[in-house]
Amino acid sequence: MKYSKQRSLVLSIVRGTDTHPSAEWVYEQARKEMPSIGLATVYRNLNALVGAGEIDRLTAAGNVDRFDGQLTEHCHMQCIRCGKLQDLYPTNKEDMEKLRSVICDTFGVGDKNVRMGRTLLRGVCNDCLKSEQ
Ligand SMILES: [Zn+2]
Ligand SMILES: [Zn+2]
Repeated sequence: MKYSKQRSLVLSIVRGTDTHPSAEWVYEQARKEMPSIGLATVYRNLNALVGAGEIDRLTAAGNVDRFDGQLTEHCHMQCIRCGKLQDLYPTNKEDMEKLRSVICDTFGVGDKNVRMGRTLLRGVCNDCLKSEQ
Protein backbone atom coordinates (compact mmCIF):
# COMPACT_ATOMS: atom_id res chain seq x y z
CA MET A 1 0.00 0.00 0.00
CA LYS A 2 1.24 3.49 -0.83
CA TYR A 3 1.00 5.87 2.10
CA SER A 4 1.43 9.60 2.43
CA LYS A 5 4.72 10.83 3.91
CA GLN A 6 3.01 11.56 7.22
CA ARG A 7 1.40 8.12 7.43
CA SER A 8 4.64 6.33 6.56
CA LEU A 9 6.46 8.32 9.22
CA VAL A 10 3.85 7.54 11.89
CA LEU A 11 3.94 3.85 10.95
CA SER A 12 7.73 3.64 11.12
CA ILE A 13 7.78 5.36 14.53
CA VAL A 14 5.22 2.94 16.03
CA ARG A 15 6.93 -0.09 14.45
CA GLY A 16 10.34 1.08 15.61
CA THR A 17 9.63 0.81 19.34
CA ASP A 18 8.31 -1.78 21.75
CA THR A 19 7.21 0.80 24.34
CA HIS A 20 3.60 0.94 23.06
CA PRO A 21 3.64 4.70 22.65
CA SER A 22 0.78 7.11 23.18
CA ALA A 23 -0.30 9.47 20.37
CA GLU A 24 1.52 12.34 22.14
CA TRP A 25 4.81 10.43 22.18
CA VAL A 26 4.46 9.56 18.49
CA TYR A 27 3.75 13.24 17.82
CA GLU A 28 6.92 14.34 19.66
CA GLN A 29 9.03 11.90 17.60
CA ALA A 30 7.31 12.82 14.33
CA ARG A 31 7.97 16.53 14.89
CA LYS A 32 11.73 15.89 14.91
CA GLU A 33 11.47 14.63 11.32
CA MET A 34 8.61 16.78 10.14
CA PRO A 35 8.34 19.97 12.23
CA SER A 36 5.11 21.05 10.51
CA ILE A 37 3.14 17.92 11.43
CA GLY A 38 0.22 18.51 13.83
CA LEU A 39 -1.10 16.38 16.67
CA ALA A 40 -4.46 16.04 14.89
CA THR A 41 -2.68 14.65 11.81
CA VAL A 42 -0.83 12.14 13.97
CA TYR A 43 -4.11 11.04 15.56
CA ARG A 44 -5.80 10.72 12.18
CA ASN A 45 -2.97 8.60 10.80
CA LEU A 46 -2.82 6.39 13.89
CA ASN A 47 -6.55 5.72 13.55
CA ALA A 48 -6.21 4.98 9.84
CA LEU A 49 -3.32 2.57 10.49
CA VAL A 50 -5.35 0.76 13.16
CA GLY A 51 -8.23 0.54 10.67
CA ALA A 52 -5.91 -0.89 8.03
CA GLY A 53 -4.62 -3.51 10.47
CA GLU A 54 -1.06 -2.18 10.32
CA ILE A 55 -0.86 -1.49 14.05
CA ASP A 56 -2.88 -2.38 17.14
CA ARG A 57 -4.61 -0.06 19.59
CA LEU A 58 -4.42 -1.01 23.25
CA THR A 59 -7.19 0.54 25.28
CA ALA A 60 -7.72 0.24 29.00
CA ALA A 61 -10.43 2.02 30.92
CA GLY A 62 -9.19 5.32 32.31
CA ASN A 63 -5.97 5.28 30.31
CA VAL A 64 -5.00 7.02 27.07
CA ASP A 65 -4.79 4.85 23.97
CA ARG A 66 -1.44 3.21 23.34
CA PHE A 67 -0.30 1.82 20.00
CA ASP A 68 1.56 -1.37 19.17
CA GLY A 69 3.43 -1.95 15.92
CA GLN A 70 4.33 -5.54 16.79
CA LEU A 71 1.57 -7.65 15.30
CA THR A 72 2.93 -11.07 16.25
CA GLU A 73 0.48 -12.57 18.73
CA HIS A 74 1.40 -11.66 22.31
CA CYS A 75 -0.08 -10.61 25.65
CA HIS A 76 0.50 -7.44 27.64
CA MET A 77 1.10 -6.64 31.26
CA GLN A 78 0.32 -3.06 32.18
CA CYS A 79 1.56 -1.51 35.38
CA ILE A 80 -1.35 0.07 37.25
CA ARG A 81 0.99 2.67 38.78
CA CYS A 82 3.21 3.96 35.95
CA GLY A 83 1.25 2.67 32.96
CA LYS A 84 4.26 0.86 31.48
CA LEU A 85 3.26 -1.89 29.05
CA GLN A 86 5.37 -5.02 28.75
CA ASP A 87 5.08 -7.79 26.18
CA LEU A 88 4.73 -11.47 26.86
CA TYR A 89 5.72 -13.67 23.95
CA PRO A 90 5.13 -17.29 24.97
CA THR A 91 8.44 -19.07 24.50
CA ASN A 92 6.86 -21.93 22.62
CA LYS A 93 3.73 -22.74 20.69
CA GLU A 94 2.58 -25.25 23.31
CA ASP A 95 2.39 -22.56 26.01
CA MET A 96 0.37 -20.34 23.71
CA GLU A 97 -2.03 -23.17 22.84
CA LYS A 98 -2.52 -24.02 26.53
CA LEU A 99 -3.27 -20.40 27.34
CA ARG A 100 -5.63 -20.13 24.38
CA SER A 101 -7.37 -23.32 25.46
CA VAL A 102 -8.04 -22.01 28.99
CA ILE A 103 -9.33 -18.70 27.62
CA CYS A 104 -11.57 -20.36 25.02
CA ASP A 105 -13.01 -22.87 27.50
CA THR A 106 -13.67 -20.11 30.03
CA PHE A 107 -15.47 -17.84 27.59
CA GLY A 108 -17.05 -20.56 25.47
CA VAL A 109 -15.24 -19.79 22.24
CA GLY A 110 -15.67 -23.13 20.51
CA ASP A 111 -13.52 -22.69 17.44
CA LYS A 112 -10.48 -21.66 19.54
CA ASN A 113 -10.18 -18.65 17.27
CA VAL A 114 -9.06 -16.10 19.81
CA ARG A 115 -6.36 -13.51 19.29
CA MET A 116 -4.23 -12.57 22.26
CA GLY A 117 -2.88 -9.40 20.67
CA ARG A 118 -4.84 -6.99 22.80
CA THR A 119 -4.85 -8.92 26.05
CA LEU A 120 -4.12 -6.60 28.95
CA LEU A 121 -3.12 -8.05 32.30
CA ARG A 122 -2.73 -5.62 35.18
CA GLY A 123 -0.20 -5.54 37.98
CA VAL A 124 2.50 -3.44 39.66
CA CYS A 125 5.87 -3.56 37.92
CA ASN A 126 9.16 -4.19 39.72
CA ASP A 127 10.38 -0.62 39.26
CA CYS A 128 7.29 0.73 41.02
CA LEU A 129 7.55 -1.88 43.77
CA LYS A 130 11.19 -0.92 44.40
CA SER A 131 10.45 2.79 44.54
CA GLU A 132 7.75 2.17 47.14
CA GLN A 133 10.08 0.33 49.49
ZN1 LIG B 1 5.26 0.59 37.16
ZN1 LIG C 1 2.85 -5.36 22.57
